[in-house]
Amino acid sequence: MTERFRQTEGQDAPVFRFAPSPNGRLHLGHALSALLNADMAEKTGGRLLLRIEDIDLTRCTPELELAIFDDLSWLGMPFESPVRRQSEHFPLYREALDRLQAMGLVYPAFLTRGEVKARVSAYEREGGIWPRDPDGAPLYPTEERSLTEAERAEKLAKAERHAFRLDIDKAQGLIGERLTWQETGDGPTGEIEADPAAWGDVVLWRSDSPSSYHLAATVDDAAQGVTHVVRGLDLFHATSVHRLLQALLGLPAPVYHHHRLILGPDGRKLSKSLGDTALSALRAEGKTPSDIRAMVGV
Ligand code: GLU
Repeated sequence: MTERFRQTEGQDAPVFRFAPSPNGRLHLGHALSALLNADMAEKTGGRLLLRIEDIDLTRCTPELELAIFDDLSWLGMPFESPVRRQSEHFPLYREALDRLQAMGLVYPAFLTRGEVKARVSAYEREGGIWPRDPDGAPLYPTEERSLTEAERAEKLAKAERHAFRLDIDKAQGLIGERLTWQETGDGPTGEIEADPAAWGDVVLWRSDSPSSYHLAATVDDAAQGVTHVVRGLDLFHATSVHRLLQALLGLPAPVYHHHRLILGPDGRKLSKSLGDTALSALRAEGKTPSDIRAMVGV
């Protein structure tokens, strides 16, 4: 039987999830996230789920997934099993994409990254200012929204690859109301106004990996009955897109807690290539799980 969307009515205990991607080793930033999720679940009598976000089939590997389990069990994380692995649920994300497509909100997008870049540079050379998303990337040009069916069919027949993108204006128009979320984290708190248009026509389905992070994470939070999303402040603005997708797909909105980030010596957020903050490296140096707690301040 295929998986169906599940609403979370009647569920009492809060549900938390930690959702790492196995495209590198876990570092101190992940430890903070995992520990906060575990502590909050414990304090509230909630459940603690682990989700492996391995939709990027080119960068995620089974070895790195095993390393995540290893690091987390060393840290003493009491995750429930079975663990959800996103690569096992592509049909569910496809079903969500099909629903959005049936609502007339999705279009095939053919421009490569290089073509977008060239377009933006040409525009800015002429003195224009191309809009950027909250991460600083240029918004995707919108002209493919209005291709005729014939033009679209011709491109689909010719193009080697294409993505699917959400027409953000149509999507917002359909919802018609102001979207907000409840935030309890280390940045702004209270009722936060979502601004999905800041991201432009977000990608929902990629040419090189099925599903996008936004679609898979939103669908999974609902499928897993997640009531509290605890993750880093780097994903604060992404929540605007998640709220819009929830509203479009009729999914419940969790409470969000975006926590402070652990910064490296250069003042930037840790990356998976910063080997010396990897939990495995710290463990090899003789650090204990309580040392890690002290290092991340929880
Ligand atoms: N997989 C994402 C990451 O490793 C986290 C996504 C989320 O918590 O929503 O950064």
